[in-house]
Amino acid sequence: MTSSARPLLNRRLAEFGTTIFAEMSALAVRTGSINLGQGFPDTDGPEEIREAAVRALREGRGNQYPPGPGIPELRTAITAHQLRRYGLSYDPDTEVLVTAGATEAIAAALLALLEPGDEVIAFEPYYDSYAACIAMAGGTRVPVTLRAHEGGFRLDLDELRDAVTDRTRLLLINTPHNPTGTVLTREELTAIAELAVERDLLVVTDEVYEHLVFDEAGHLPLATFPGMRERTVSIGSAGKTFSFTGWKVGWVTAAEGLVAAVRSAKQFLTYVASGPFQYAVAEALALPDSYFSAFREDMLAKRDLLAAGLTEAGFQVFRPAGTYFITTDIRPLGESDGFAFCRALPDRAGVVAIPNAVFYDHREAGAPYVRFAFCKQTAVLEEAVRRLKALAG
Ligand code: PMP
Ligand code: GLN
Repeated sequence: MTSSARPLLNRRLAEFGTTIFAEMSALAVRTGSINLGQGFPDTDGPEEIREAAVRALREGRGNQYPPGPGIPELRTAITAHQLRRYGLSYDPDTEVLVTAGATEAIAAALLALLEPGDEVIAFEPYYDSYAACIAMAGGTRVPVTLRAHEGGFRLDLDELRDAVTDRTRLLLINTPHNPTGTVLTREELTAIAELAVERDLLVVTDEVYEHLVFDEAGHLPLATFPGMRERTVSIGSAGKTFSFTGWKVGWVTAAEGLVAAVRSAKQFLTYVASGPFQYAVAEALALPDSYFSAFREDMLAKRDLLAAGLTEAGFQVFRPAGTYFITTDIRPLGESDGFAFCRALPDRAGVVAIPNAVFYDHREAGAPYVRFAFCKQTAVLEEAVRRLKALAG
């Protein structure tokens, strides 16, 4: 018998409930709505990569536990990718760790690097697992709010500097940023790097949307900035870049000591995962540049389609510079509560979206914002837009 006086779920996790993505995807299924909520593509990634997974499975590669740090082929492919794209050089044996998606990489990094009471600064709105993992690690999250401007959501560097205290251990950065689509500029990244060096902070950077930056400059990894390589844990994932979100292959690149620390936590979470898929992702990372540019172009066209449709439907649209999400303001529609709006949207329009408020500590700051995913087939987006326009009418 358990004591009825004591809740089963511990205090660290009690505030989190069910992730909004599960809730909203279930709502989409229940109501037969178009799901522009949870960020997953509605078509699979490249056929030859899917076949590479089938081949690995058939040939018995990865069907038993792969090595703890990941198969050598994938670790080498990850380091080759970091070198080719960003000029970042890592040792595949000691400076790479394959994880069960970026989700596990985030969890392992925070569990490994935080002592109870350490403060972690994260941009608000933040991806939901950040808050939960900081809590599981006994850390304290310190949100710095990205504020809405005409052109999008931006970081206030003074607020960031002011948020650092003697207890700050780590900056948890996400660029391109989910859910706002903000891409940090070179100037902002330079300032973040200087702050990290000056205050001797560790940095965990979530770069799962690295191949979805829409302007020419492309993605700028924080680890390339002066003084950052030795203090930065960079996190990537195959899920978004190759449209296989169910495979759960992610990775960490960092200096040896950091990787060793993250591995210490990771080995007791999943130990290993996704054996045959690791072989396929090794091949995916070696795809020619044309794959990555075609992927980006395709998403760019979809961004423009959905942004135009949402604007016509009466939303204020913040055009994302990266990711496959569009954050909107619903106030021009006469609405102010994103939660209520998203819960009613299936009935009103047969579409599901995500209320950004769940990604805020200051819920009222996020209340009027709603996120739509555009990683869907063109015809699906067109139908969603047609339905959403009914709201304006
Ligand atoms: N970080 C961000 C910002 C995300 O949007 C997601 C969802 N892809 C993740 C991490 C988790 O990635 P994965 O599916 O590889 O665990
Ligand atoms: N990253 C996806 C999103 O932001 C969801 C992933 C998940 O459901 N955990 O929509």
